[in-house]
Amino acid sequence: MFHSARIKLTAWYLFIIMLISISFSIVVYGILSQEVDRFARLQRIRYERFQSDATGNEIVIPAPLPPTEMDQELIDASKQHIVNLLVITDIGILFFAGGVGYFLAGRTLQPIKAMVDEQRRFIGDASHELRTPLTALKSSMEVHLRDKNLEIKEARELIANNIVEVNRLQALSDSLLQLAQYEHPNNGYHFEHVNLKTLATEICAKLKPVTAKKHITLKNEVSSISIEAVPESLKELLIILLDNAVKYSPPKSEVVLQAKKTDGSVRISCADHGIGIEAKDLPHIFDRFYRADIARTTTQEAGYGLGLSIAKRVVRLHHGNITVESKPHLGTTFIVTLPVKQ
Ligand code: ADP
Repeated sequence: MFHSARIKLTAWYLFIIMLISISFSIVVYGILSQEVDRFARLQRIRYERFQSDATGNEIVIPAPLPPTEMDQELIDASKQHIVNLLVITDIGILFFAGGVGYFLAGRTLQPIKAMVDEQRRFIGDASHELRTPLTALKSSMEVHLRDKNLEIKEARELIANNIVEVNRLQALSDSLLQLAQYEHPNNGYHFEHVNLKTLATEICAKLKPVTAKKHITLKNEVSSISIEAVPESLKELLIILLDNAVKYSPPKSEVVLQAKKTDGSVRISCADHGIGIEAKDLPHIFDRFYRADIARTTTQEAGYGLGLSIAKRVVRLHHGNITVESKPHLGTTFIVTLPVKQ
């Protein structure tokens, strides 16, 4: 598909360039052939004047060039020569423009190809992630449906389990939608003044049930800093980081959220004393659907590996930067740096 689009685009480039080039050649030919005719006419006049001077009837100033027999054949040959030169030039342009056009068409289509490849991968990953829980749901319902002695208690249990699965699927589809939204960062995001302390207090209150469940102490050490941001997106970012910190921390541990103003930027950090991330996983944790082995094997927590890729896109939307420092079994710190307008 990409190759045929490239050929088509090259053909369009060539068509436009050759249209201009041939029109230009026609104009040049018209002008030059007129010049040849004019030159021939002038030569003829000079020759005739010279002739009349020779018979003594007229005085000619200045003295003419040696008379040349103006030959129509010579004029036609000159015109033919101009045509040949123009045709050769046009053929040269055709080949040159073909090569350059093919190269430029490739360059023009490259970002589109990258986008299409990315979308294909996205759809592939998403459908793969959706298929597994849907298949599990379907088969468990089919098994229970075939059971003639199914009791109401078992049926209730099945429905309760299925609701948990459906909730997870709902969370997955919400995350996929968010991710798709952030693929178009200019899509109507409204930046406004946001006070980080107010925002962090609101989020910490929201996460209270989650932290209370694991007896985790969530320390809010965010200073009162005002930044230009998209409030909902910034909330999402902090929720993702704090939710992960709680999710991957042992019970009764501590999670600290800090925000400090530095030169022209604000540094937000979220630190935990949880399972940590191995060095080999660190370069991949912001990739879509990536889950580190240590997270899969040491925790029961559900996750689809989409949170950090959404976080990365939120940070990009705010022209900031996100990094991570982590040691397995010791803890993890995510650091977000966002620019602050002076
Ligand atoms: P998930 O839904 O799996 O948490 P994320 O995209 O939020 O997806 O995180 C990707 C992976 O990064 C996680 O599966 C986990 O392995 C690792 N990770 C993220 N945050 C932490 C953390 N605070 N501590 C340890 N590992 C983490």
